[in-house]
Amino acid sequence: MQVPTHVEYERASSVDEALEMLSRAGGEARPLAGGHSLIPMMKLRLAQPELLVDISGLTELSYINVADAELRVGALTRHAQLLDSAVAGERLPIVHDAERVIADPIVRNWGTIGGSLCQADPSEDLSAVLAALRATAVIRGAGGVRTVPAREFHAGPYETVVEPGELLVELRIPLTANTGSAYEKVERRVGDWSVAAAGAVLTLAGELIEDAGIGLTAVGAPHFCAPEAEEFLRGRRAGEEAFTTAGQIAAEHSNPVADQRGPEDYKRHLAAELTTRALRKAFERA
Ligand SMILES: Cc1cc2nc3c(=O)[nH]c(=O)nc-3n(C[C@H](O)[C@H](O)[C@H](O)COP(=O)(O)OP(=O)(O)OC[C@H]3O[C@@H](n4cnc5c(N)ncnc54)[C@H](O)[C@@H]3O)c2cc1C
Repeated sequence: MQVPTHVEYERASSVDEALEMLSRAGGEARPLAGGHSLIPMMKLRLAQPELLVDISGLTELSYINVADAELRVGALTRHAQLLDSAVAGERLPIVHDAERVIADPIVRNWGTIGGSLCQADPSEDLSAVLAALRATAVIRGAGGVRTVPAREFHAGPYETVVEPGELLVELRIPLTANTGSAYEKVERRVGDWSVAAAGAVLTLAGELIEDAGIGLTAVGAPHFCAPEAEEFLRGRRAGEEAFTTAGQIAAEHSNPVADQRGPEDYKRHLAAELTTRALRKAFERA
């Protein structure tokens, strides 16, 4: 039987209180949001915090709204809420494409956006989505608030730039005109993690690509994105030729590893194919 080691538990009733509890325990405390990732990690003893600070009741961090041409999503927003959001679906279809294929309804009903990103799993879907969208993470600690580009949020597998004593509190996603987006994922069965997945965001100026964002997950793309493929697309005429070449460039710069979900060459092939498909769909939607 897998059981965690002894752990203290405190429930925070505000963000300020949570930050105070986290700082008091130094690096030995972990925030507990939905627990879908943290509790299994504790059972396997891959995480052994001395204190769990339960932030799941902090409704002040559960919201989706539009301000200053950005979609603002509180870190305690559940996957299911994001999937239900009409504004997210209309303005950012890449988000709904991804949310439809993240886990199952049980996980989506309780798992949070913040928990998902802070877990920093190399196969996590929203990290690729937010990298493609060039979102910004808002982090709060005793010293105040700081912002970090989504592309700089991960410090490595299962590591982020959120320091002990800090909380991720919000994601800010730019809402840009003349833009289409899409997410394409291959999974072994419904609800599973990605074998590989790609997201694309295209901003058009007539027939030309003004800007492109490409996010990749599960294929070892540095920072979940493909800057070389984005650079190739910028200023080019949108179309099949450009999308296919961009897919190949994205695959060349990814570093997949073989595991139970497939060999390296299959994942690299998927990186190219899914990037091309996501670009095609983003273009149709722009
Ligand atoms: C069966 C299953 C299938 C899944 N399939 C997929 C999938 O297909 N694609 C995918 O992308 N994900 C998948 N997931 C991952 C799932 O999305 C996450 O487990 C879930 O969203 C994590 O959110 P949580 O609120 O439960 O986080 P928790 O488990 O509570 O926390 C996770 C980590 O983040 C930290 N944390 C939480 N909130 C904050 C915060 N606000 N600030 C700082 N640190 C914080 C915690 O301390 C912990 O280290 C799956 C999970 C399961 C269990």
